[in-house]
Amino acid sequence: MPKVVSRSAVSSSTDARPTASSAAALRVYYCICGEFILVIDKTIASLPRRQTDGAIIIRAQDTDEAKAHVFKLNAVASEPILLERPGGHERQFRFSCPRCTLPIGYQSTPPPLKSGPFVYLFSGALSQVQGQVPGDAFDGEEANTEEDNESTTRV
Ligand SMILES: [Zn+2]
Repeated sequence: MPKVVSRSAVSSSTDARPTASSAAALRVYYCICGEFILVIDKTIASLPRRQTDGAIIIRAQDTDEAKAHVFKLNAVASEPILLERPGGHERQFRFSCPRCTLPIGYQSTPPPLKSGPFVYLFSGALSQVQGQVPGDAFDGEEANTEEDNESTTRV
């Protein structure tokens, strides 16, 4: 069989060229209820995670070693809580979705947001697609094993 080369293929170098500006790389995230929550210069999946609770770490302030992420969070401050941790206590100033009040994340300093070096987001709290539950929303919860073996392969 001779190899068939399609002549209808057009070069895509002129159209749909991604812009080089950093604005093009901004990501938008939504609460499960559909409310806009976060715009950030990186995917939150690529950010480091806290070992303690798996929360996503967003650097909120510049240091000598690293620059803060550019991000805007649409959330309201809620009650600070005190957690028991191995070796001591941890105070979390939490913030939540302005529409459905679902907790989104926390920081270790009182409001306003970004008053501390880091902002933490709960794993699975946000989705990149409006109205869609994130794939890791139920991480760490007891899995329903009967329904759980579908579509674990990703192409
Ligand atoms: Zn919400």
